[in-house]
Amino acid sequence: MNESRPVLMRGGTVLPMDDARSVLTNTDVLVLGDKIAEVGQNLSAPEGALVVDATDGIVMPGMIDTHRHMWQTAMRAYGADWTLTQYFVWYYLDHGKLFRPEDIHAGNLLSAIEAIDAGVTTVVDWSHGLRTTDHADAAVDALESVPGRFVLAYGNIQQPPAEWSASPEFRDFVNRRITGSDMLGFQMAFDVLGDPAFPEKGAFEVARELGVAVTTHAGVWGATNDDGIRQMYENGFMTPETVYVHASTLSADSYQRIAATGGSVSVATESEQSAGQGYPTTWTIRAHGIPVSLSMDTSVWWSGDLFSAMRTTLGADRSRAHLEAHAKNETVTHHALRAEHVVAWATRGGADALGRSDLGVLAPGKKADVVLIKNEHSPVSFPLLNPYGHVAFQAQRGDVHTVLVNGRVVKHEHRLVDVDLAAARAGVERTVEYLRSSMGEEAWQQGMNPEIPEATVLDNPYQYSDYRSEATHTS
Ligand SMILES: [Zn+2]
Repeated sequence: MNESRPVLMRGGTVLPMDDARSVLTNTDVLVLGDKIAEVGQNLSAPEGALVVDATDGIVMPGMIDTHRHMWQTAMRAYGADWTLTQYFVWYYLDHGKLFRPEDIHAGNLLSAIEAIDAGVTTVVDWSHGLRTTDHADAAVDALESVPGRFVLAYGNIQQPPAEWSASPEFRDFVNRRITGSDMLGFQMAFDVLGDPAFPEKGAFEVARELGVAVTTHAGVWGATNDDGIRQMYENGFMTPETVYVHASTLSADSYQRIAATGGSVSVATESEQSAGQGYPTTWTIRAHGIPVSLSMDTSVWWSGDLFSAMRTTLGADRSRAHLEAHAKNETVTHHALRAEHVVAWATRGGADALGRSDLGVLAPGKKADVVLIKNEHSPVSFPLLNPYGHVAFQAQRGDVHTVLVNGRVVKHEHRLVDVDLAAARAGVERTVEYLRSSMGEEAWQQGMNPEIPEATVLDNPYQYSDYRSEATHTS
């Protein structure tokens, strides 16, 4: 893996994401092979190095998304006006079964490309459309064809987790495809529905036997609740590796169990705000000391970039803090949650959730997953006064200038390197055409355009027409 050319990022504002949250101005980052060799000033460029002018830019670790249903990217924006209920009906009951292995491939491929383009160098593919291991092979084929870092979180919404995880095909898939490469991690992805018989127990036992983490949608209004957390706790399945997605509608008791067992929460604020899992939970779990990572959930609704995640998470947390204070007739005079916190959640937070101390930080010896945010053509690129604030509230995916994954340049000067976007487009077009014709035009349109409930307009005692006639008289 060490054949990549040395890279020297020259003269940027570096956010190494160390414990001190340093801001290093006019600083260089030297990458040799797959690792960061040095962070410092006036470093010399080795023979044959690619020197990237990072002046007026921000150099930070690659961002990490801990929960994204990548297969759904083939349906980008289709569900923009869905609620969670409509999503469940569409994917779980009506049309999720239509997806063939090539459709999983198409979604994953586009999603993987989209991620590295946005500087998201690691994505957990929360892949719950794997009806067969042919689907799973297709998912991995796509991930392996894109030079990003991925974690396949294996799931199947069409079969109980204890069943699919016990199948010989699943075991064979794990043996064949999960080889311990640090470019492709592995988790098991399933939800605990709170059935008193705890039917998910067998799947947890498989995960324990394989030594892999479980990621689970927890605290989702109307779907998962405290019962699932209690069952996991009482059976010893809550571990530091467990990632609880959303965790929005849980009691203090459940948060205490998560905190005590060392797990982390993947907060998908854009999703929670719009779909209805519950209020984005950072404002609660901060008080419990639970580690946070960020995620975008699915591009069937939202974007696949973590700038949006940082921005909305900061906004939702502060919005709630104000609201809670106003209810007590108080005023928030100082923000507890800072821009630097959400930048840390988007980088180190994800690395910690995945048990990857070699990611999420720019320091010698760490993996060279590096992002340069710089856009000379953008009026938003200056002045660069508060780099954390700039990343959280000003930057966007178009400002991602250069991206390195494992020391390899995958995007440079705003262009993806060695990525066949035309092939990704062709694959997605085939999937859309297939789904549309299988569903029929009427169902396709209905799926995309859910009915709007009737609005109730309240009686208003203040008559605008009176004001108007009054105003006419005086003029
Ligand atoms: Zn999800």
